[in-house]
Amino acid sequence: MANKRDYYEVLGVSKDASADEIKKAYRKLAVKYHPDKNPGDKEAEEKFKEAAEAYSVLSDADKKAKYDQFGHAGVEGAGPDFSGGFGNLNDILNDLFGGAFGGGFGGFSGFGGFGGGQRQQRVFRGRDIRVRVKLTLDEIAKGVEKEISIEKSIPCTECGGKGAKNSSDIKTCPACNGTGEVQRVTNSFLGQTITRSTCQQCGGEGKIISNPCRNCSGSGLVRKRETIKVRIPAGVEAGMQLTLQGQGHAAKNNGINGDLLVVIEEQEHPNLKREGNNLYYTKIISVPEAILGGETEIPCLDGNYRIKIEPGTQSGTIVRLRGRGLPSVNGYGGGVGDLYVKLAVWIPKKLGKEEKAMMESMRAKDSFRPDPTKEDKRFFDKLKGLFD
Ligand SMILES: [Zn+2]
Ligand SMILES: [Zn+2]
Repeated sequence: MANKRDYYEVLGVSKDASADEIKKAYRKLAVKYHPDKNPGDKEAEEKFKEAAEAYSVLSDADKKAKYDQFGHAGVEGAGPDFSGGFGNLNDILNDLFGGAFGGGFGGFSGFGGFGGGQRQQRVFRGRDIRVRVKLTLDEIAKGVEKEISIEKSIPCTECGGKGAKNSSDIKTCPACNGTGEVQRVTNSFLGQTITRSTCQQCGGEGKIISNPCRNCSGSGLVRKRETIKVRIPAGVEAGMQLTLQGQGHAAKNNGINGDLLVVIEEQEHPNLKREGNNLYYTKIISVPEAILGGETEIPCLDGNYRIKIEPGTQSGTIVRLRGRGLPSVNGYGGGVGDLYVKLAVWIPKKLGKEEKAMMESMRAKDSFRPDPTKEDKRFFDKLKGLFD
C-alpha cells in the first residue's frame, strides 16, 4: 500500500473539525499549491492533489464516515478526477465558496493570470486501473502481500514520453497556443459569453508532432505488463477498495499517473462464516457428547482450539470464543472479533438392535422426559420465541 498521509493531517485540521473549518483549510492549501501558481513544481502539484483528495473525502459526509471508521482502505476510489487537468483555480474557489463570498472574488485577481488567457498547458492524468483480488479468510486474518500483474501505459522509453525523438519535431499548437483549449467569445443580448472547448487541431494536447516516435506512434505511451506488490492490511472486507496512488496508467505529456484501485473479494471458507469481524462455526456433536459432556476441537484461523462441552448441552447452544475472530482493518472500528461456535447435536437414524434396546430403556426414564420448567427453562423459552 502506498503510504498515504492521514486526511486530517493533510488539511491540518483536528478530527472533530467542522465542515467550515475543513473547507477553509482546503481553500488555503488549494490557493497555495495550485499548479497554475506553481508551474513545473511537481511537489506542489502532489501537495495540491493530496489536499484535493483529502477534501473530496472529508467534505462528503458519507465518505468521511467511512474514512473515520476504516481509514484509507474504507474510502471508495478516493479523490477527485484530474483527467481533464486540474481545473482553473478561480473555478475551484468559486465552486467552493461561491455563495458565501457573494461574488467577492475580485480579491483573488491579485494573484494574476487565473482567468483565461495565461492558462498553463494542460496537465493530463492517466486512467485508474481497477483490479480484483480474492483473499482467503486466513489471508484476511493476518494481512497479506499480493503480487498483482497488470498491463499499463508507461512513458515510451524511446522518446521519453514526448512523442518524438527530437524536440525540434514538437511544435506548440498554433491554434490554441499550447493550452489545448480554444475560447470563443459570443456577443448576444445577454452580454458576452466565453465558451471553452478542446482544441480540434491538437486534440487538446497543446502540441503538434511532425515526426512522431515510431515506438509509440507519437502518443508518448507504451503498454507494459508489470507485477506490483500490494500490501493488504488485516481485517479487510469484500467490496473494500485500496488505492495505490500513482500506480495506474501514465498520462500523456508526462502528466500525472492514475491510481491502481484494488478491490477486495473474499473466498468462501469451507467451515467458517464471516460477519463483520466475527466468525461463525457450526460444530456437530454426538448425543452422548451432548449428554455426558467432553471436549471437542474447533478449527480456528490460527490453528485448532479445544473447547469444553458441558454435560447436558442442548442442541443449538452457542459458545463464544473471545478474540478468535478477525482484526479490524487499520485498527478502526475497534478490536478483534469473536468466534461463535454453535453446537448442534446429531441424531442417528440407523441403530443396531442393541443400541435400539438401550434407547428403548431410556424412553421410560424420567430424566429423558422433556420438562421445560426445569433448569433449561431459558433454553426452551428461547426456542418458543423462534416461532412467535
Ligand atoms: Zn491546439
Ligand atoms: Zn515514443
